[in-house]
Amino acid sequence: MREELVVACCTDIAGKVRGKAFPAVQFEKRIRRGIGWTPTNVQITCFDVIADSPFGSLGDLVLLPDEAARVRVDFEDGGPVEHFALGNIRHTDGRPWELCTRSILDQALERLHRVTGLTLLGAFEQEFQFRDRAPALGDAYSVAGFRAERAFAETTVAALAAAGIQPDTFMREYGAGQYEITIGPARGTRIADNAAILRELLKAVAQRTDRKITFTPIRDPAGVGNGVHIHLSFLDGEKPATWDPAAKHELTATAGSFVAGVLKYLDAIVAITAPSLVSYLRLTPHRWSAAFNNLGYRDREASVRICPVSDISDVARASQFNFEFRAADAAASPHLQLAAIVHAGVQGIEEGLGTPDATTEDLSLLEPEALAARGYVRLPQSLPEALERFASNPTVTGWFPDGFADVYVKHKNGEMAFLKGKETAEVCGLYEQVY
Ligand code: GLU
Ligand code: MG
Repeated sequence: MREELVVACCTDIAGKVRGKAFPAVQFEKRIRRGIGWTPTNVQITCFDVIADSPFGSLGDLVLLPDEAARVRVDFEDGGPVEHFALGNIRHTDGRPWELCTRSILDQALERLHRVTGLTLLGAFEQEFQFRDRAPALGDAYSVAGFRAERAFAETTVAALAAAGIQPDTFMREYGAGQYEITIGPARGTRIADNAAILRELLKAVAQRTDRKITFTPIRDPAGVGNGVHIHLSFLDGEKPATWDPAAKHELTATAGSFVAGVLKYLDAIVAITAPSLVSYLRLTPHRWSAAFNNLGYRDREASVRICPVSDISDVARASQFNFEFRAADAAASPHLQLAAIVHAGVQGIEEGLGTPDATTEDLSLLEPEALAARGYVRLPQSLPEALERFASNPTVTGWFPDGFADVYVKHKNGEMAFLKGKETAEVCGLYEQVY
């Protein structure tokens, strides 16, 4: 006998998706009633230890599942149906909770709309690695490497389609046992929802097929990392609004200011977009990740890259045109990542910043003075440094609800306390277990 359960859940500061299950037949009631939630849950770190919490054992919240973010996938493998719904955490009087990642994103998107009238369109591109594959020399990017995981790929793509996510590509990436999956774009909050849903579905496929995967930012400091590349563009109503063929780098003035804001505040938001201790092993030069606050024109070492468009596609140039944010990884809540990027971008628009120059050279070869003269900074090289830049930037902390910055830093300090004294290899090993 079996009764189908659905999990109401949300992404949190640890970059985890946590929630509670209830009978699926009660879904309509639970949309209004929600499920009970505990404030201190926000301080459960990725390693399960609870960081310093301002709430202690006190307080009550409700997590309301959202029908629009409900996923029901029957894998037809004899196992239970995968069923969950992302939602928002509210105070018992209905106000959004200050530490609810999805509400924080909603507020950022509202700011974007208020200031520009635009809607965000985007998709997260995600890299991951199999932890249980014997290293196969010579299969990077190859058909053979893809074939080895074709069954996994096909089950995943079917699950995405069943969840209403438009599948795009699946490939054998360059790193050891590394693969990458891309999906079609979505609007607003759904951009981040899809990123969380995609990760959960990949984990579900792995669990059902007895495989082990990880999205950890980096497994081996000598190898490549697992990046999350956040592709973004704008819509004005239904019309694409990112491309201006006559403008610098073909970015509309608004898109150019948005990118300028993201780069201006990047060193202070990277604590949110790349939030683990090992994230900073990945954000180093010559890894095709991101090490400076630069815009790149089709350059894969830039923090923001203008992506290629093709003249031979059946899709119009204006609809293809997008830029990607590369200083991100899967240790973060996609909702928080996107909120930080959107706030930084809108700040750039409000400040009237001009479209940045795009770099074409290796910035790691420049002396700090030469970098500074051109307005570039090396991104923080450790989590403590990144947190310091975040916490000491009142503009950035001011984008978030009251109390958020303090709780965020305490959370990350709790995570680091757990790792204190451990060697890098052990730290990497722990992160690859939890992400
Ligand atoms: N694995 C690289 C990263 O950490 C990205 C490689 C690519 O350009 O796809 O971001
Ligand atoms: Mg890639």
